[in-house]
Amino acid sequence: MNKIVVASGNKGKLREIAEIFKGYEIVSMQAAGFSGDIEENGSTFEENALIKARAVCKALGAAALADDSGLCVAALGGAPGVYSARYAGEHGNDAANNAQLLKNLAGVPEESRGAYFESCVALVLPDGRELTASGRTYGHILFSPEGSGGFGYDPLFYSDELKKSFGTASAEEKNAVSHRAKALAALSAKLKEARL
Ligand code: IMP
Repeated sequence: MNKIVVASGNKGKLREIAEIFKGYEIVSMQAAGFSGDIEENGSTFEENALIKARAVCKALGAAALADDSGLCVAALGGAPGVYSARYAGEHGNDAANNAQLLKNLAGVPEESRGAYFESCVALVLPDGRELTASGRTYGHILFSPEGSGGFGYDPLFYSDELKKSFGTASAEEKNAVSHRAKALAALSAKLKEARL
């Protein structure tokens, strides 16, 4: 295998994947000719990553890699979890999602605001083989946004590893500790182990 189609059109994700999967040709699903809609109706990050990778692999007959990720807050029973992108109702409305998160955590003290980002990545091959890996990065939810970098919940997430919010971190700093980077590194190790 030397070509991997990524089930995402996000340029930042494609760059991050290409950096970790050196030696493979990394192509977006749009560039590879996939234009269908995939319904992410799984109840875990792993299920959703597999749903996306299987759909792209089946449609194109090529190795496909997908990721699914989100924020899990202990005080909210793990929410928003797989609903992270649409926590406030509308898909991808970061401002509304952040406002919803702060509202639901109103009155919760700092020591009880622990949270982590989780990413699961799945690689599905035309011969039916499937590999998955996941990664987490831990921290807590701030009382108000800090910084405007990154995307999604980054301004509200204080990283234990960076000792600052993801919103104030550079892309390099975040990529060094992020859930997605950890998941991709674990998947890359599994690929090497399987000699794929
Ligand atoms: P997706 O898996 O890239 O679709 O991400 C799902 C949702 O989880 C995003 O819309 C964000 O709300 C949230 N999310 C996932 N990863 C991150 C991150 O690194 N920073 C901030 N929010 C994230």
